[in-house]
Amino acid sequence: MSERLLNGPKILSWLNVRMYKPIWNPDNTQAGDADSISGFAIQFRHNHYQMLLNIIERRYPGVELYYYFLNENRVNAIAGRVKPYKKVFVVGITVGALRALHSMFYNQVCTSTLLCSLPAHGLFDQKAASRMLMYFSMTYLLLHEFTHIGRGHIGYLESIRTKKPRFIERCSLKNMGILEVNSRIEDDHENFERKLSECQADTYAGFMLSTFVAYQADELHRSSCGLPKTKIEDALAMLAACSVHLLFCLYESEHKRPHPHYPPPMIRSGMIETQLSRGFMEMRKRSIHHYVVTGMMIANQIAVSMKIPQSTYNLTQAYCEFRKHVLPHIDDLSTRAAAFMPQNIR
Ligand SMILES: [Zn+2]
Repeated sequence: MSERLLNGPKILSWLNVRMYKPIWNPDNTQAGDADSISGFAIQFRHNHYQMLLNIIERRYPGVELYYYFLNENRVNAIAGRVKPYKKVFVVGITVGALRALHSMFYNQVCTSTLLCSLPAHGLFDQKAASRMLMYFSMTYLLLHEFTHIGRGHIGYLESIRTKKPRFIERCSLKNMGILEVNSRIEDDHENFERKLSECQADTYAGFMLSTFVAYQADELHRSSCGLPKTKIEDALAMLAACSVHLLFCLYESEHKRPHPHYPPPMIRSGMIETQLSRGFMEMRKRSIHHYVVTGMMIANQIAVSMKIPQSTYNLTQAYCEFRKHVLPHIDDLSTRAAAFMPQNIR
């Protein structure tokens, strides 16, 4: 499986030639150390590739998905269709994202507040908690990109594109100003559709993230010393919420003004966390809402202690506009993008 992942020649040439994106390969000698950047990357990719394939095979028969780490220092993630193959897709996360999250969760986040608040006391030490924070943020990034594929956004946005940007999807924490200049689109309709697609990607990613909370809880429950599974689930829900919210605190520190393609980061985090609760409730018939909210609150405290700058624009006003003009239209996008969803591509 990993052979196929690393050696898919058509994907490599597509990334190199079409996207100008060199691959970053983790250092295999560190494979055994899950707390190193390389070790985490190897284990994360291996576990997730199989899980994603399972989801894809169930939902979208015939689709091939590859995912890579890209050798770029910016915090970016991309999703794209590998032309001329109709059902071959690629998701890339930059090594810059890995490094920034690793630095934040291992070096800067003082996890003691977090650890003391977790319902499953003693289950996580500092390293295990940091690893789990990494895991959930990276999973969210992946699921967000994956949704752009699954919901037909890539083909649809291509079909309405007024000018050709070089990259299909870019998310950036650093150098956002430069990227905005490069990828700015003047067309209002296109900007709006793009924003809806980002909201949908966040919504689905949050919902699917609950599957990964449950999956990790099952894994931990098997190996831990008789703690009730619900306690483990609650603790993981808190860690997942904390992780995603901290990621968006970072995004917010880079968003000095409203972005044409994205709602404000705090609104995005709210959508994701709400969907995480919903997804879990649907799956396990039990509410984790309280723990999700607690996780977000702790993330806020950590962001303050890390002195991550907050937005300067009016969030209440931004939320009112979002609720009035964006939120009611998110689902409508599916009708327009339906022809481009993998199961409908002929
Ligand atoms: Zn996106």
